[in-house]
Amino acid sequence: MSDNNSNPKSRRDFLKIGSLIGIGAVAAGAAGYAGFAAQDGKEGHGGEAESALSDSEKKIKVLTEDGQLAEIKASELSPVQKDQYTSALQEQGREGIPGKHWVMVIDLARCRNVRACMASCQNAHHLREEQHHINVLRMQESEHTEPYFMPKPCFHCDNPPCTKVCPVDATFKRQDGIVLIDNERCIGCRFCIAACPYSARVFNWFEPKNHEEDEDLLYNVELNVPQKKGTISKCLFSADRLREGKLPYCVSACPNGVYYFGDLNEDAVTNGTSGETTRFSELIRKNAGYTLLPELGTKPNVYYLPPKNRMFPFEYNGKTTLEDEHHV
Ligand code: SF4
Ligand code: SF4
Repeated sequence: MSDNNSNPKSRRDFLKIGSLIGIGAVAAGAAGYAGFAAQDGKEGHGGEAESALSDSEKKIKVLTEDGQLAEIKASELSPVQKDQYTSALQEQGREGIPGKHWVMVIDLARCRNVRACMASCQNAHHLREEQHHINVLRMQESEHTEPYFMPKPCFHCDNPPCTKVCPVDATFKRQDGIVLIDNERCIGCRFCIAACPYSARVFNWFEPKNHEEDEDLLYNVELNVPQKKGTISKCLFSADRLREGKLPYCVSACPNGVYYFGDLNEDAVTNGTSGETTRFSELIRKNAGYTLLPELGTKPNVYYLPPKNRMFPFEYNGKTTLEDEHHV
């Protein structure tokens, strides 16, 4: 888990700072600059002489795109609208990370229903207790076979039916394969929920968790925070973490080595628990990896390794058998 999510207050402060940087960018934009390095107007102007200047005449320093320091009149500064900064985040979020094709592998033989992945994900995305971007399902093919556990996120399909039915282009697929939702555009029609054959999407029926504390946050489409009542949410492959060069929240949180994550273009995936990197194609070939419902042509980017070792002591909700339990 990243610190900024475990401490909403400090994250909020961070985002406010981000907003100030945006203010600088717009001021700079008026003068043809993109960066910002404001300093006290008195600095570098000879103390007392400077103090005689009226506020509107005072100058501040800004950093230009090509790294030059320049001065601009304080009166020419204008605050950036929050919307403008959010738009920049949305633009970056839509674009994705060039050259990447993200892929996840889930080893069903290792899952023990610890659910650390679920908790980590819920915490990061400010989800209510009953909402899950990733859900650990209890599976059993027949009464004669042992049960096993199956984590199920969004599969970030290469041919996603969900994005095709959205009437306002709120859900989309990026160049790096991640399927996201822009909850500033989403109108809550839920066509995408109906279109997804894997039940990967959730609807915000109620006010999101932390909605009061999150009020001031700038919306980050790669984190889908703040969540918004009346819109869709789902697994994001932790796009915000990937941008920082880190593994997804769930992958890092699992203590049992269930998750591998990596780049299909490099044919490499890294185990979130051991940190070991291995060839994706070899992992799939040697372990008979598969995707769910391949006959649909959705081309998921989440692969499963079969639950070949089910002879571990089974326990679920304090029970050691599946008697009186509904099968999933
Ligand atoms: S699993 Fe469902 S929500 Fe995710 S990309 Fe595929 S169709 Fe869309
Ligand atoms: S619920 Fe939102 S994301 Fe889904 S199809 Fe409707 S507008 Fe698009």
